[in-house]
Amino acid sequence: MKQCVVCKSTIEKGSYCDAHSIAKKNLENRFKDWQKAYGKLSWKEYLTRMVNNQEIPIGNWAREVADYLLKKEK
Ligand SMILES: [Zn+2]
Repeated sequence: MKQCVVCKSTIEKGSYCDAHSIAKKNLENRFKDWQKAYGKLSWKEYLTRMVNNQEIPIGNWAREVADYLLKKEK
């Protein structure tokens, strides 16, 4: 058995539970939209904005994933 890297819930395979897996996909899809809208935007900058700007309606799941990925980047 494995654990979701974000919430530590038990999962059968991979690194993320279902909820965080979906959230990660949403986060990645949204990044593409943001790149179109803002041009030069790095993944790290994007994640930083997602974590720090509570007004961006991405939801708690996605924000938790962004927070995890950002810590991993450092
Ligand atoms: Zn999870």
